[in-house]
Amino acid sequence: MKKYALPLGMFAVFEAVAVALWLTKHNLFYLFNFSYIGLAVSLGVFLLIGRHKHARRIVQLLVGLYMLVYLGLICRENMQIEGFWYYLFTGVFEAATIHYAVAKIFGPLIFGRGWCGYACWTAMVLDFLPYKTPQGPRRKIGWLRYLTFAASLIFVAALFLAKVGQIERIMFAAFIIGNLVYYAAGIALAFAFKDNRAFCKYLCPITVFLKPMSYFSLLRIKCDKEKCVDCGKCKKVCPMEVDVTDNSRKRCNGTECILCMECVKNCPKDAL
Ligand code: SF4
Ligand code: SF4
Ligand code: SF4
Repeated sequence: MKKYALPLGMFAVFEAVAVALWLTKHNLFYLFNFSYIGLAVSLGVFLLIGRHKHARRIVQLLVGLYMLVYLGLICRENMQIEGFWYYLFTGVFEAATIHYAVAKIFGPLIFGRGWCGYACWTAMVLDFLPYKTPQGPRRKIGWLRYLTFAASLIFVAALFLAKVGQIERIMFAAFIIGNLVYYAAGIALAFAFKDNRAFCKYLCPITVFLKPMSYFSLLRIKCDKEKCVDCGKCKKVCPMEVDVTDNSRKRCNGTECILCMECVKNCPKDAL
């Protein structure tokens, strides 16, 4: 029964959010949306506990495809960062603002960058590429993320300042074009740097929120120094180059951890 506690707890948290938003916003969609995501995440946690090989990828596909295809393409909701600015400027706490608050701004205080490991539809595609761990040195170009972040903000602010008409149609077009650009840039960077997650490390604007918030994350991978034999296997398999045996919050690339559990799965001493 103990092994069901975590997935059930996760489901309960999502269900609480689902019911609270359904009742406060008087919109049944929130009940369906957060119940579905809660079920997918709980299933993933359950499979992870059972050491299922593809647990993370299953959740990534269940949540990523739902958000990209159903919410994005069918419901025409721009859930990218431009959509977040759009709803923020209109002053309503709806769709992308709720999504950002839960998954990318306040949620990371609890589950770190779980979004990046288990739900992001950009990484869902990038994780199919051949370079699961980086094959080259890390580049010092992380500052690029601030440019993409600023570009997204300026783009939406300009639309509002210019009082452009049919802004919702523009936001839908921006969602399609933005995703195509992200996929193209992500795939090109992955092959150029021989690293599937190069886009996440250098270019993704959302990391401007995710990195500082996940610094304080409740959920973290920790190393039991009594058991660790310094074999270095955990660092070799980490896609984000986290210095995982260092338990301090300031550890190298600590805010990059996507909780993929590769280090945990590969530790020969169960020290993580
Ligand atoms: S860093 Fe950006 S692209 Fe990468 S998984 Fe996170 S949100 Fe997605
Ligand atoms: S391998 Fe471990 S430290 Fe690296 S991202 Fe995955 S969970 Fe985090
Ligand atoms: S894989 Fe395990 S034993 Fe080896 S260095 Fe990492 S934590 Fe220590």
